[in-house]
Amino acid sequence: GFRMGIVGLPNVGKSTLFNALTRTAAAQAANFPFCTIEPNVGEVAVPDARLDILAKIAGSRQIIPTRMTFVDIAGLVRGASRGEGLGNQFLANIRECDAIAHVLRCFEDGDITHVEGRIDPVADAETIETELMLADMDSIERRLSNLSRKLKGGDKEAADQDRLLRAALAALEAGKPARTVAVSADDQRAWRMLQLLTAKPVLYVCNVEESSAASGNSQSARVAEMAKAQGAATVVISARIEEEIAQLPAEEAAMFLEEMGLEEAGLDRLIRAGYQLLGLQTYFTVGPKEARAWTITKGMLAPQAAGVIHGDFEKGFIRAETVAYEDYVAGQGEAGAKEAGKFRIEGKTYEVQDGDVLHFLFNA
Ligand code: GDP
Repeated sequence: GFRMGIVGLPNVGKSTLFNALTRTAAAQAANFPFCTIEPNVGEVAVPDARLDILAKIAGSRQIIPTRMTFVDIAGLVRGASRGEGLGNQFLANIRECDAIAHVLRCFEDGDITHVEGRIDPVADAETIETELMLADMDSIERRLSNLSRKLKGGDKEAADQDRLLRAALAALEAGKPARTVAVSADDQRAWRMLQLLTAKPVLYVCNVEESSAASGNSQSARVAEMAKAQGAATVVISARIEEEIAQLPAEEAAMFLEEMGLEEAGLDRLIRAGYQLLGLQTYFTVGPKEARAWTITKGMLAPQAAGVIHGDFEKGFIRAETVAYEDYVAGQGEAGAKEAGKFRIEGKTYEVQDGDVLHFLFNA
């Protein structure tokens, strides 16, 4: 599955947020029990109102949302790239994530120490980014020297790696994260395999005080400006509020949100933003037994999408019976969509679209 690493300086609210995420009603309403893989790793259901609507139309007995994994990565402090704090362990944890949610302290609270003794989320973001950049430079230099022997042997893969590592190093030496490097479509795979920390997409999470949950505050506005300049996304959240909401039954949570002037839980926004950041989308399988959401990456073809359910579906793929979500709803089910001429048979080259309701036919 897809993993989102939660990083940030100590005392910014990472654990509060992680606990809220993994305890939320949505995470628990999922039919599989919420699963804590390790104390700091949790799976959450991706909220999607379309799934409930589809289940209602089809009379599905079970609703199974798709899931995303969050990892609470503690121990990132100034000097981490030199082994301060938890050092290498947390760098390895970040390496295994597909994207980073960077929590920034935007709340004032004299009772809670800030490691740097002041509230400045933009400077905090730079502190963390600098550590990650230093760690990347370190690992690139090590890898380049390891590659030199293979290069002499004329290894094509080594040559590609060498070229990409040098491009990343040039950016880092110019003070820019590796994600600013333009990478061609052909190089994407090799690039991802390098697992550079600063190549991962970043989402800034502004943790504001309770009273600013709906509006944000002057600090979160500064972060938004910084993020905009980087082409990154931001989410404003109050981890404290989310922690409280996560402990309430669904109806009470809805009332609480309304009182706070919030349209939906910040966690839902965060999960969705993460999903978007990772370039993910959803297709559905719908029947009387269950309505289920599946996660794929944008651009996936039908056989690969089928492979998310089971490897055999991909190997023996024949065709995909397809109805777009809107057509399924308009026709109040597959039969109605068929009558309206909206039922399609798609083959191996079909690029699955977000919201497709699919039924795969395959050779067992
Ligand atoms: P971490 O070190 O980043 O994991 O931070 P924690 O989640 O442990 O939070 C550190 C402290 O800040 C805890 O005492 C939290 O209750 C508190 N805290 C977290 N979010 C907020 C917030 O939005 N407002 C206030 N006032 N305190 C918060």
